[in-house]
Amino acid sequence: PSSLRYFPEQREPETNASAALPAKLLLSGIKKTHKNNNKKRTITKKREKVQLCRVNPAPSQNAGRGSGPEESPVAALHAPVATETLEFGVGDSPVTPQPPLVPAEAGPLPQGPSFPPLPEPAARSSPSEPALPAGPHWAYEGPHGQQHWPEGHPACGGRAQSPIDIRTQWAQPDPSLPPIRPVGQPGTPAFTLSNNGHTAVLALPPSLRLQGLPRSFAAAQLHFHWGRPGHAGGAEHLLDGHRAPAEMHVVHYDAERYTNASEAQHHAGGLAVLGVLLEVGADPHPTYDNILSHLGSIRYAGQTTAIPSFSVQDLLPPRLDLYYRYNGSLTTPPCFQSVLWTLFQQPVRISLAQLEQLQGTLYTTTAAEPEPQRLVDNFRVPQELNQRLVLSSFPRGPEGYSTGEVIAIIFGTISSCLGLFLAIHFVAKRMRARRAQDQDVVFKASSHRTHSDDGPRP
Ligand SMILES: [Zn+2]
Repeated sequence: PSSLRYFPEQREPETNASAALPAKLLLSGIKKTHKNNNKKRTITKKREKVQLCRVNPAPSQNAGRGSGPEESPVAALHAPVATETLEFGVGDSPVTPQPPLVPAEAGPLPQGPSFPPLPEPAARSSPSEPALPAGPHWAYEGPHGQQHWPEGHPACGGRAQSPIDIRTQWAQPDPSLPPIRPVGQPGTPAFTLSNNGHTAVLALPPSLRLQGLPRSFAAAQLHFHWGRPGHAGGAEHLLDGHRAPAEMHVVHYDAERYTNASEAQHHAGGLAVLGVLLEVGADPHPTYDNILSHLGSIRYAGQTTAIPSFSVQDLLPPRLDLYYRYNGSLTTPPCFQSVLWTLFQQPVRISLAQLEQLQGTLYTTTAAEPEPQRLVDNFRVPQELNQRLVLSSFPRGPEGYSTGEVIAIIFGTISSCLGLFLAIHFVAKRMRARRAQDQDVVFKASSHRTHSDDGPRP
């Protein structure tokens, strides 16, 4: 069925072959080439698997979508198209004129070849260059809110959108998924941090690479999604319905096939994004301070600042071998369905003060606007899973029950059995006693009857 096609909404002649692959093949990558004779059999098998898997998840995704306040906000991912000069491109090379990468309002999606490539690495923004996206205006709520995104950005209405609520028990373990391995050095003394009106974006040099994916991916940028002060939720991806306080996305592009993220975002599997859930812990995370302590310099939309470079991989959780993998999209307009998602199972903990810096420092408005609007709740509601498979790099077992839970279950079972035994024992005992009593009564009654039979006779 056509529903098995992976990136069906995008018109991408170059990627037809991969688009036709079932989810799992595309997800786990390369190892299978299309020419193999065994292939057909493999595909058939995988299709069966996909079919099986999809019986249950879809309804639950629906179930996860409520109308609570948590649901309406959301996502700010890679807002590449309209914002690519900013989000993908702020690098270290000399300033070059950048053509405005503005998709026509409500027009067809720009096609890869006709989309002007961005010089890579792109120019570092100077104070005179606004870091604001051009293109159709969008927001998380209101008249340009996420319900309206598909009107100006058709891909936002597609069937492989992000984020999603991952039902961990339905994720399919795939032991062949290797650990994620970040490699390379920044090679630059400074990074550029920007407020693009939707999120805080840190431009990353392509010398930072990612291994452990189907191809070699180069870093483009990272950014954040968060909620608002005093509210628990702000992340985009949910794990079993739980929304963490914030989420970081590290965007990479397929450097083997494309020259930059702006080009790669138009092609299925062109981008690889690492998702890191941020939870609140007791201590501040020193590496996150490299970014968060500079937010005060980019308070208003359009502002940028240079910050000393640091080890980006120290922002990731310790276990890079534990993750969920699925095919999805940018979580902000233009919502292109070109992202190979990796959501780490482990969260990273930052302090409450650090979270509050994220929630309370930035404005979605420029410094010139008369009414400042806080940049909060920049997360998208979970999207339908539809025909997609979610893989996990680890077996399901260990996640199910902790040792404590196993002990509790064993203890509970023994207690229940004991209780049942005692109940049966006492019931039986009481029944025996009652039966003995009944016999006694019968005996007396019959003897009494006998007696009365002998009673007065006419
Ligand atoms: Zn994001």
